[in-house]
Amino acid sequence: RRAEFAAVRNLPAKTRDGVEIGVMVNAGLAEDAVALAASGADGIGLFRTEFQFLISATLPGRDRQLRLYTKVLEAAGDKPVIFRTVDIGGDKALPYLADVHDEAENPAMGWRALRLSLDRSTLMKAQARALIEASAGKVLRVMFPMISEPWEYEEARALLEEQLEWARQGHRKLPKRVEYGAMLEVPSLAEMLDQLLPRIDFLSIGTNDLTQFLFAADRSDPRLAERYDWLSPAILRFLKRVLDAARAANVPVRICGEMAGRPLEAMALIGIGAENVSITPAAVGPIKAMVRSIDTAEVRARLDAVLAKPPRDMRKALADWARRHSV
Ligand code: PEP
Ligand code: MG
Repeated sequence: RRAEFAAVRNLPAKTRDGVEIGVMVNAGLAEDAVALAASGADGIGLFRTEFQFLISATLPGRDRQLRLYTKVLEAAGDKPVIFRTVDIGGDKALPYLADVHDEAENPAMGWRALRLSLDRSTLMKAQARALIEASAGKVLRVMFPMISEPWEYEEARALLEEQLEWARQGHRKLPKRVEYGAMLEVPSLAEMLDQLLPRIDFLSIGTNDLTQFLFAADRSDPRLAERYDWLSPAILRFLKRVLDAARAANVPVRICGEMAGRPLEAMALIGIGAENVSITPAAVGPIKAMVRSIDTAEVRARLDAVLAKPPRDMRKALADWARRHSV
């Protein structure tokens, strides 16, 4: 079906009943932004800025970050890029930041991402300045990873706003506008959405981390890979509550974990109300093909029914239904 997917990649991601699904891609390198034009995607929904840190022998300072972000924004052209501040620490070894790599027993829930960025604010400030400068005259879209409580978002945002003020006072050219986003990948944040939603421009759900924390199941342990399914009623019900809350608050949501790049999973996500995904570039064709084959009203009715009375094997139930409906 390779040729078929290639053909569908540049067609609109529109369902049979006319609902547009936003399809963006996950990226981390300048080359990914160059490949964006041919990918058929609407933009970069998750730019993992830690890639540059992970592949560098020395700490990438503000200048190197600035060069990368400038290149990415130039290559993306009119298409939006959402930069995620670094998710380093935990089990990601960085030779030049020896104390950041700790021997914690549970590095995934350790000192990583925003937790580390807020404690090491010089690192975060350098990144903020690079993002601001690279976005001069453009829209800066930035989001923060691994937020557990709204105050962490507030602190990260305040730090960015301070750097904006610093740039303003230095009469530097500023971004046209800044859009702030929060990643929801730690379940505790879902309980605090009433506090968070009025403060953000967009929400991004990281289902990779979210699932491992929701199920208390290490995402990197192959022995657990088959055990907890993305199509389990627990995760779908959880996500639906988040999507409903965001819709009620008029805040756009994008699902950016690997789950959204699989057609059956993405169909289920649309069935619980998702309208935007950010996926691996190779999945753009298959996801668009699925989107163009479904009727959202039908899929939503199906998801409502299976979530009200979950079958023992949700995956099989949804796969059978999809086959019967030529998805
Ligand atoms: C996620 O956790 O789902 C996510 C998108 O972020 P990462 O995979 O980079 O942790
Ligand atoms: Mg994550």
